Amino acid sequence: MYIGHFAAGLAIQSRFRVVPLWILLIGIAFLDILFSIFIVFGIERISTKGFDFIDWSHSLVMSLVWSIGLALLFYKKGSKYMLAIGMAIFSHFVLDFISHAPDLALYPYSSIHMGLGLILSKWGWWIELGISFTLCAFYFQQFLPIRNLSIYAVSIALLLLSLHITRKILGL
Ligand SMILES: [Zn+2]
Repeated sequence: MYIGHFAAGLAIQSRFRVVPLWILLIGIAFLDILFSIFIVFGIERISTKGFDFIDWSHSLVMSLVWSIGLALLFYKKGSKYMLAIGMAIFSHFVLDFISHAPDLALYPYSSIHMGLGLILSKWGWWIELGISFTLCAFYFQQFLPIRNLSIYAVSIALLLLSLHITRKILGL
């Protein structure tokens, strides 16, 4: 899932306005940021056959560890702030669970792997669009009545939509 993660960040921000959007956007991408770092250091890998080894960044237990661990770093900012950070990071696992083929381990080196693989189905593009649309709807609620809508919010939504359409065109 791609734009769905960003839409999750927007949805969370609409309920936790105390946290700047950019921080939540780092949060929703955090597991993939870790993944990129781990790939560079050879800790994780992508293989063409079998499961990818992404257990340290993306397994259920490690996702919880990263979510709770990073949320705790913000303890001085209060519980709402911590909850938003934790939700943003863990939302990545939830959306990857929906979209990935079963390559999300329960914990590092576990033989149990999870993932519904919905995004890989022929309706995948539409499913991600639907999920992202729903999440964006939460974000846009805060701008009602419609005259309060900011150009910033519209630009973000249009950017996500155009990225999603580009993916369709390029077949990514
Ligand atoms: Zn991911």
